[in-house]
Amino acid sequence: MLKPLEQWCCDSCGGIIDGALNGCIEWCVVRRTHRTSAPRIVHKSRECTYDADEQAALGRAATVISLDSVVGPECLANLLKRLEVVMGWGWAEAADGQAFIEMMRRVQLPYYEEARLFWDVALAASIHDGTRYDKETLLQILRWEETEVWAGLEALRSQEVTASA
Ligand SMILES: [Zn+2]
Repeated sequence: MLKPLEQWCCDSCGGIIDGALNGCIEWCVVRRTHRTSAPRIVHKSRECTYDADEQAALGRAATVISLDSVVGPECLANLLKRLEVVMGWGWAEAADGQAFIEMMRRVQLPYYEEARLFWDVALAASIHDGTRYDKETLLQILRWEETEVWAGLEALRSQEVTASA
């Protein structure tokens, strides 16, 4: 299980970012319009952050901010200030605004980073109603997912037993 507000899945390489000091949030700004696009959470490394030359060729520049300055309630004010500035210029696409909010949830809400992976399946199974992001609801999703995985493993095991019998 990912440690809440200490570990994240990197949107670039898919690996685990272990500790806020090892990661960053970043997004691209379209030079012509100053609009924001493609916000994400990645490792703080050349391999995972947006490539400056590639972005320049697309007419964009990347903004990179260390994760430790936006994680948790004590950094919410900082994050909201960032949101205010980028919203002033607007989003390249409507989906970029949603992605920015999703990125904020991932660095602000304990257990969301892991629960989001099972959000849709848990919604389909009526484990939550898709409107609540409180700790209780997120933990409920994670506990449900854990029992589902165990039930799945048990089912596989009993199939193997039947097959070998
Ligand atoms: Zn990475």
